[in-house]
Amino acid sequence: MARENAEAKARRYLCDGRLTVLYARGQQIRATCRGDGTLYKLRHYPVDGWRCDCPAVSNSCSHLIACRLVTEVPV
Ligand SMILES: [Zn+2]
Repeated sequence: MARENAEAKARRYLCDGRLTVLYARGQQIRATCRGDGTLYKLRHYPVDGWRCDCPAVSNSCSHLIACRLVTEVPV
């Protein structure tokens, strides 16, 4: 079986109910996502953009992809 890519993983997190949006108003979003055993904090702020607590350096980890699939940041 092919390795699951970040987007497939993100969709699985959503299906499993692992993403919780705590706050979403305008450009401010806070959420948590349970990755493989660990709960990560995600956020979006106007200047900083998207941030996730997980060890992935990129800001397109599966947690943030999951969060972006269910939230929309107005531009
Ligand atoms: Zn992450």
